[in-house]
Amino acid sequence: MSFEQLGLSTDLLRAISDQGYVNPTPIQEQAIPVILEGKDVMGGAQTGTGKTASFTLPMLQRLQVHANTSMSPARHPVRALILVPTRELAMQVHDSVKTYNKYSALRSTVVYGGVSIDTQIDIVRSGVEILVATPGRLLDHIQQKTLTLAKVEVLILDEADRMLDMGFLPDIKQIIQLLPEHRQNLMFSATFSPDIKKLASKLLHNPVLIEVAKQNSVSELITHVVYPVESAKKQELLVRLIQQENLQQVLVFTRTKHGADRLAQRLNRHEITSEAIHGDRNQLQRTQALDNFKQGQIRVLVATDVAARGLDIEELSHVINFELPNNPEDYVHRIGRTGRAGAKGFAISLVSKEENSLLVDIEKLLGIKIKSEQISGFELKETSVNDSKKSAPSEEQRTKRGGLSKQNKKTNSFVKHGEKVIHFNKEGMTRNTKRANNKADDPLFTQPYISKYADVNALIGESSELNKKPNHRQLSKRPVPALFISPATNKQKKSEAS
Ligand code: AMP
Repeated sequence: MSFEQLGLSTDLLRAISDQGYVNPTPIQEQAIPVILEGKDVMGGAQTGTGKTASFTLPMLQRLQVHANTSMSPARHPVRALILVPTRELAMQVHDSVKTYNKYSALRSTVVYGGVSIDTQIDIVRSGVEILVATPGRLLDHIQQKTLTLAKVEVLILDEADRMLDMGFLPDIKQIIQLLPEHRQNLMFSATFSPDIKKLASKLLHNPVLIEVAKQNSVSELITHVVYPVESAKKQELLVRLIQQENLQQVLVFTRTKHGADRLAQRLNRHEITSEAIHGDRNQLQRTQALDNFKQGQIRVLVATDVAARGLDIEELSHVINFELPNNPEDYVHRIGRTGRAGAKGFAISLVSKEENSLLVDIEKLLGIKIKSEQISGFELKETSVNDSKKSAPSEEQRTKRGGLSKQNKKTNSFVKHGEKVIHFNKEGMTRNTKRANNKADDPLFTQPYISKYADVNALIGESSELNKKPNHRQLSKRPVPALFISPATNKQKKSEAS
């Protein structure tokens, strides 16, 4: 199917063509016509599937009737509200909006915390039809009466699962109550937890369910590898991996902000240029670090989960989990940074004995046993993680991947061993590599989707009303109904985002 067949306007088709997209991805193919019809959608899609364009393109088309060049702010009320969990995702989604909206007079902006509200106020006051926002900062604007949501026609919750993880449910509920009752609702989530289903049942009306990948699944283009290693030797192993494999663009995850800083410093001492990105760094520092990484000025970006949420980095071939996440779903989110839009990727995890149970949880969630490889000089002293003997790849598998023969293995050191396991340089997995042109064959892109009008309510339960409007003055005082009490207890996470 082509974009032309989806019923998009000439201006949008031009913008799409400028991006070099040839065919719509499965989620775009399924979601665009449904959203154009004005229906509510529950989208089950992980990052990298093209989901941003799947909601942005039809949303822009539906709002096109309101496009005007008047200077009066009153002629530019907010018509579409896109809520996202983090500042980085907010900027990224807004970049997409600008990209596809470039031939239209519709106005857009983005508001997020961590930066001064003043410049945002000026832009918001001048009037915008499309607003991308993190929930906390949006409520700040509403409290300051810099904007009203009374004319919103489309509400989009992007990465809804992460918003709930981060404790944004009370904020989301407050925001929803300020919207007009009659509107279109689109909700996208990589996972369908009970909390997500509950939110969907409250928010969506007869939604069409569109899924492009199995729940909690990850792109099959990603090769997963576990290296068992003592905690104390992780830094050394990471340096070895990066240096000896000559990795040029690696996203490394740590569990703590402090750990991210320490690791970035250590890498720099080994002349591996790196920067850390986490909630204790201000917005300017975070944006600069990300830009430096994207432009190849630094080789390694060390990130915490929240800071890296939703990052879209072209051609990112390697994600390394310096530490496994506590929440197995974060593994899916982390490695969703690679293997995007048809490109291949490698997800490498350095796993200490203490993290073995986390690895088991991840494997359970993914439904796969991750290949485990010992690296000479870094073996675990006692029991190995993930029983490497059992899961080591066969000789045939290794040869298929371009690895060395058994004989070579005996005589070769870590470098050769690493080549066998990862062999990314030979496959051209560097930043200069162009994306694979085989999107049509990409399993992620060709997963069957499920569009079940009949079953969707079974998934999310009966729809019900959520649209009781509160008085603005009561906004901050209103108690949160038990149903909407946040599942997140980690306040720190939330403060990182907004
Ligand atoms: P997303 O899942 O929205 O984060 O998108 C992942 C990446 O896919 C982004 O870099 C998009 O620019 C890219 N993308 C979106 N739609 C298409 C398409 N139809 N063809 C090729 N790439 C696309």
